Amino acid sequence: MATPFPLLAEPIQVGRSQLKNRFVMGSMHTGLEGQPDRFDELARFYADRAKGGAALMITGGFSPNHAGRVTHHPCILDSEETLPAHRKITAAVHAEGGRILLQLLHAGRYGYHSDIVAPTPIKSPINKDSPAELSAEQIRQTIEDYARAAGLALEAGYDGVEIMGSEGYLISQFLAQRTNQRSDDWGGSLENRSRFPLEVVRATRRALGANGIMSYRISACDLVEGGLSEADTLWLARAVEAAGADCFLTGIGWHESAIPTIAGAVPQAAFVGATAAIKGAVSIPVIASNRINLPETAERILREGQADMVSMARPFLSDPDLVNKALGGQADLISVCIACNQACLDHYFTDQIVSCLLNPRAGRELDYQDSPAKAAKKVAVVGAGVAGIACALEAARKGHDVTLYDAADEIGGQFKLATKIPGKRDYGLAIAAYDRQLMEAGVRAALGAAVDAETLLAADHDEVVISTGVTPRSLDLPGADDPRVVGYTAILDGSIVAGKRVLIIGGGGIGHDVALFLAQPDTSELSELAAFEEHWGIGQPRNPPTSPREITMLKRSPGRFGRTLGKSTGWVLRQELRDYGVRQIPDVSYQRIDEAGLHIVHRNVAEVLPADTIVVCAGQESDRGLADALTARGRSVHIVGGARLSGELDAKRAIEEGAKLGNQL
Ligand code: SF4
Repeated sequence: MATPFPLLAEPIQVGRSQLKNRFVMGSMHTGLEGQPDRFDELARFYADRAKGGAALMITGGFSPNHAGRVTHHPCILDSEETLPAHRKITAAVHAEGGRILLQLLHAGRYGYHSDIVAPTPIKSPINKDSPAELSAEQIRQTIEDYARAAGLALEAGYDGVEIMGSEGYLISQFLAQRTNQRSDDWGGSLENRSRFPLEVVRATRRALGANGIMSYRISACDLVEGGLSEADTLWLARAVEAAGADCFLTGIGWHESAIPTIAGAVPQAAFVGATAAIKGAVSIPVIASNRINLPETAERILREGQADMVSMARPFLSDPDLVNKALGGQADLISVCIACNQACLDHYFTDQIVSCLLNPRAGRELDYQDSPAKAAKKVAVVGAGVAGIACALEAARKGHDVTLYDAADEIGGQFKLATKIPGKRDYGLAIAAYDRQLMEAGVRAALGAAVDAETLLAADHDEVVISTGVTPRSLDLPGADDPRVVGYTAILDGSIVAGKRVLIIGGGGIGHDVALFLAQPDTSELSELAAFEEHWGIGQPRNPPTSPREITMLKRSPGRFGRTLGKSTGWVLRQELRDYGVRQIPDVSYQRIDEAGLHIVHRNVAEVLPADTIVVCAGQESDRGLADALTARGRSVHIVGGARLSGELDAKRAIEEGAKLGNQL
């Protein structure tokens, strides 16, 4: 069968190497890079993605010296000591027919430790520590360190290296006037500011010889004041090519940029125009990246001549077989990355090993059994929310005979509601993929009618898994039966349309999502990309649209709203709500609801908040009625997800619990 993605399937020459297709797995820190004693796990992680078809992969960043490390973890390649551990990775990847580059990343002022250095001692807005200024001698030494690290990478069996020259790390810091105010040979004119990256590229080329691949990750647009202009970036690209790079992989924005670049709020391939400009300026292959999670988007980028290859990073966490599925005509089976960042970037920023909300095996491949179960069992999974789906899939893949029950006609449970939230549209793609995967795995779906304890007992299952999820908590307050009081599910599923003045009770993740859903303005006269660029001020003054509603969020607890939101996406959501004028009142005591509105006491002052709609987002309770009925009849059951533990809806925990149990049955 011909592949539906012929351009992605084409081989390509990069330097002296022939790559088998146009898919690149971009660099991701997994959190294991600083622990060579755990490189068996990293080897398996990369080997799975090589087996899944990625032509070229790039490791997380390794610093060429001590000062350049990103965190306190010794994620450095400056000696032969760790080469045996690295060889486990390269051997595993090559055994699966893949190629892998080691990324060299000097963090400069972005390092989170006390020895950070930079061209000029200017503190970063995202770091509490100030860097020390590099002396000219230290700069020379750093260039040598890059070259030595590149040589060590080759010795370890890597196919080459990637020079991290974007996202605001040391190389960006040399290039931008924002962070380089030196008056010696390394600062001032663009020529001087680019001396460091160009010397790094030349020295690295000498260390790699002609055969080693050198990718240069170029900042296609800095998205910060005092960053490089487009003309400067194109000049730099031509100079880096002349200095010896084999290909460019584009990065977008510095980490301190106030513009989102990879959150769900960012339209698909929003920044690919900047990559296309670089492609137009150079003759070596250019690899596009950022918010590309579908092979259709990647193929379109190639078809329109905007890049020569496409890099995806997080999509390889959510599905290691992404390439084989895409090129093999099974794109509908791909677990599409939903840009939630909950188990990848948010894990990294909180010092946890990176994984994936949709694919909890990622980064933990060795914790799961791949062999079939010794004896096939008859398994009932009751509740087709994400915990139940994950459990059913893992159990069926082990060879068990699985039936998935749900009273609803469709799978997805509360996860489905998320598809209504701005920036979470891709959650629907994840559910569609689950649907196909369940079918493929042979899971029998018994949807559209609630199953009771008698039926389950009569069916004589070997294992019964209860994943019945949660029931939203209702409001316990005089006047709570007022017709203006509604639950969040009715708002999100569209069965109730909120009025102009809305109060949201609850400041958790759902309260924030509902606020964004209700605050979203109608921007239908603009394309999605144009609306995004106007809102965030990309290439024009920032001009957020106006919300059609007056929204107030309330919560009982003191302190600011949104503290539990993810580190990498919470700031985007908080900024959007500010842009839409959403008022937030913490430390509230609710008194009653009457015709005048919601009566509250806030900081010892009584207040009445008029409202057309009061949306309750006050948590959930575990739905364990069926589990209790079965255990009362002597039937042992497994309970996973929200049915086991309610509180904040937590799809990441639910999916992981379901998957682990399914794999162990
Ligand atoms: Fe994508 Fe979310 Fe998985 Fe990260 S955790 S890889 S963003 S689906």
